[in-house]
Order: sequence, then structure tokens, then C-alpha cells
Amino acid sequence: MLVRSHETTLLIDCGFTLKEATKRLERIGVDPIEINAILVTHEHSDHIAGVGSLSRKYKIPVWMSDGTYRQSKVGAIADLNLFQDYTDFTIEQITVSPYPVPHDSAQPTQYVFFNDTHRWGLITDAGMVTPHIIDSLRQCDGLVLEFNHDWDMLQRGPYPYKLKRRVGSDYGHLNNQQSALLLQEIKHENLKQVIAAHISEKNNCKHVVNQILEQTLGELDTQFQVAEQGSETDWIHLN
Ligand SMILES: [Zn+2]
Ligand SMILES: [Zn+2]
Repeated sequence: MLVRSHETTLLIDCGFTLKEATKRLERIGVDPIEINAILVTHEHSDHIAGVGSLSRKYKIPVWMSDGTYRQSKVGAIADLNLFQDYTDFTIEQITVSPYPVPHDSAQPTQYVFFNDTHRWGLITDAGMVTPHIIDSLRQCDGLVLEFNHDWDMLQRGPYPYKLKRRVGSDYGHLNNQQSALLLQEIKHENLKQVIAAHISEKNNCKHVVNQILEQTLGELDTQFQVAEQGSETDWIHLN
């Protein structure tokens, strides 16, 4: 995910190879040298595999939790910023508010981004919704929410038993019902955009997620869409 405010552009996670990441950035009109920082959520490869090479090639500073770095194989990074606790920090025009989530990695972190006028919240890779997650994501006018799997599809689907248990556990991923309850809790009149993300290709269905979003947002004017693995969404504006 890219977050931009004025001249500041932040990239959150990069699970792609350098070639694929560069190609995708180009498709949405971003030159990698414009990226002010890469923020990493956790050390699973779908989030970190491309971070080291992208950072080295374009000299981009990287931020992540201390625990994530210790478990990662990210390699040498010239401008590495590690945090132990969850204090807000500012990168140019964007203030970053990291918060912890339950997930089966060392020190998993999700982020809320804000400037004077807008607040953009992110949550993927969380096994359950905690009161702290709800508090962290209140009052956002834009949200990226994990809708990883449909519980029944996961149980009936092709994953081996161990993986089914992992994904469905309190340290795995949010299912559609958990995410809908979270959204129900944090939605408000000024919520402008919701993007459903980290959707399982094998254990979920875009159509179902769209229906859940429509039902949960109800009367609100909020726009919503489902992000796909194989293609980028357009830039989403909060103004
Ligand atoms: Zn993930
Ligand atoms: Zn993960």
C-alpha cells in the first residue's frame, strides 16, 4: 500500500520482487525515488520479501518494529529505523501511529496515518479483533481492512488441516464475519473509503465480500471496493 500526503509518499510492505514492485509502481505513476520511507508490518514473506532490495536500490529508509527486524532476513539497510514501543512518529508530512495486533509473527504491527485533515487506517494479518485495534481505528476517514476468508469456505477448502487451523486461529487472519463486526464498530458518518484487502484467493469470494461491505455500511455514503492480488487499485482520494 502507498499513502501520500502532499509531497510525502510512504510504502507499507513489499512482498514483490524488485522487478515486480518497480513495474507496479510505474503502472500507478510512482517513481521509486519519490518514496520517502518503507514501513513494514511483520516478517512474513508476502510483506517483506522485496523490502531489502527496493530499499538498497533506491536508498529508501525503512521503519519496522525491533521484533520484526530480529526475525527477518531483510539484509543490510543503510537507513534502518527500529521501534520497540508504539509511539507516534512523523515522516515529512505524515504522522505514523503504529499499533500491535495478534498474529503469528514476532512483533506484528499495523499502522494509522494522519495529517491535519485526514486519517487513514490499515489492518491486515490479525487473528482477532482486540479492543485496542478498535480504539486505534476509530475516526479514520479511510480504511484498508483485511477480509481474509469466509469461515465455511476455509473449513471446506483445499488447505491442509494444519494451515486451516493456523489461518482460522486467534493469531491467524480475520474472517469476513470478524471484519464486518469490526467495521460495524468503527464506521461513522465521515468514513469516506473502505478497501477490503488481503483476500484469500482460495477461501473467499469477492462477490461475498462486496455484499458484506454493502450491508455493513448500510445508509452511509462510504465508497468501498475489494483489492485484488494481481492488480493495483487506482489512487483513492479522501478529499
Ligand atoms: Zn499477510
Ligand atoms: Zn502474516
